[in-house]
Amino acid sequence: MADRDIERVLVTQDEIRARVHGLAEEIAASYTGKDVTLVGVLTGAFIFLADLVRELPLRTKVVFVRARSYGAGSRPGELLVEILGRPELSGRDLLVVEDIVDTGRSLVGIKKALEKRAPRSIRTVVLLDKEERREVDCEVDFTGFVVPDEFLVGYGLDYADRYRHLPYVGILSRSAYSGEA
Ligand code: 5GP
Ligand code: MG
Repeated sequence: MADRDIERVLVTQDEIRARVHGLAEEIAASYTGKDVTLVGVLTGAFIFLADLVRELPLRTKVVFVRARSYGAGSRPGELLVEILGRPELSGRDLLVVEDIVDTGRSLVGIKKALEKRAPRSIRTVVLLDKEERREVDCEVDFTGFVVPDEFLVGYGLDYADRYRHLPYVGILSRSAYSGEA
């Protein structure tokens, strides 16, 4: 049974599980014998990363970044990317793990910030891709699901820090926006 604030389940728990397994196989095949540093984008990617890393038959490290955008109104602002802790990234193969890509601005900004740390390579895996919303050119190497332009929550994605725990990805009901539950 879906949460009462969910209008429709878009990707079920079983579909996610199967796709994460498939993504792990694709990723492992392209990094054979390598030691990969997963770069999780907080907070939305925490569940996806947790599931993915446990399916990956590779030597891995896990680090996190946070991306915040400073902007007035609807104008896209400056993106501030914070790398948590003091991880060694130079010469490493980085795989950015993101929950969803929309305009593409976050992913482009995150890649740019990581490039300054002189890694050997940077690739990206996103669970959900709102392809039709793209505003900037951003290459995604591994994609879970292409999704429509709806506001999605669950499996790490939030609305005001709620709904992250839902084991599926769903479309949030309009009524859930109007008042704090
Ligand atoms: P972009 O920079 O690609 O426009 O935006 C990516 C970020 O916007 C995601 O990491 C996520 O934080 C947020 N975002 C975009 N679409 C959705 C959505 O449908 N639901 C939620 N919860 N966040 C979204
Ligand atoms: Mg995100």
